[in-house]
Amino acid sequence: QDQPRVVLSARGLGKDFSGFTAVNNVDLDVHHARIHALIGPNGAGKTTVFNLLTKFLQPTRGNITLLGTDITSMKPDRVARMGLVRSFQISAVFPHLTVLENVRVALQRPNNLATQFWLPLSSLDRLNGRADVLIDELGLTEYRDTRAADLSYGRKRVLEIATTLALDPEVLLLDEPMAGMGREDVKMVAGIIRDVAQHRAVLMVEHNLSVVADICDHVTVLARGEIIAEGDYRSVADDPVVRTAYMGS
Ligand code: ADP
Repeated sequence: QDQPRVVLSARGLGKDFSGFTAVNNVDLDVHHARIHALIGPNGAGKTTVFNLLTKFLQPTRGNITLLGTDITSMKPDRVARMGLVRSFQISAVFPHLTVLENVRVALQRPNNLATQFWLPLSSLDRLNGRADVLIDELGLTEYRDTRAADLSYGRKRVLEIATTLALDPEVLLLDEPMAGMGREDVKMVAGIIRDVAQHRAVLMVEHNLSVVADICDHVTVLARGEIIAEGDYRSVADDPVVRTAYMGS
């Protein structure tokens, strides 16, 4: 079987904050149609890596390539339009609007399929069609006309992911998508992320290691800003270096 193509990569990525090295020498390859987890103890540098990849922070060292283009010096909005999107970036879920209305609003944002305020009827059809496809893909069909405020916490997160997908990203970055959820919602969201990753790359920071074990194809472990292990979940979980990093400090 062919190795899926690399859509996002970092080489020698590093970030210093006034002399303190938060991230150092990070090499990362994110593949199409795979779920890649970034894990590590608190303060390991996971959030900083996300901020570097999405260009919210400018790296001190190294470079980042998205779909073959060097994005190291690009602005965040440009990177998002090129196909690298982070879940909270568009997490403006309007509580008083229905699921369908929220998805339509997201689809009508600038740089999306509809960039004009006034839409010809044919694009309106297209918009509704796209909205329904997204709603269906995210398992929200039965909640199509439910106000976002009335959704369970887990479904709200799923709606957030749906609005993120309105940009049609190649790479989706999820920052602790299961945080604060009960077992049922965790299971539901895990299934949704799996579906989403059939056509896209997913890179996620997640503290729930049983979720990581269940759904992630590849795991990168950070500690004190550097990669200390990577591979499938079993191999990194059995790695004594990883065990020490999680227990020490
Ligand atoms: P994680 O997400 O893995 O918990 P972070 O990326 O948030 O780790 O932080 C990594 C390290 O960088 C921590 O020691 C943190 O205190 C430091 N750090 C993060 N952001 C800043 C900042 N803006 N200024 C100074 N230090 C920072």
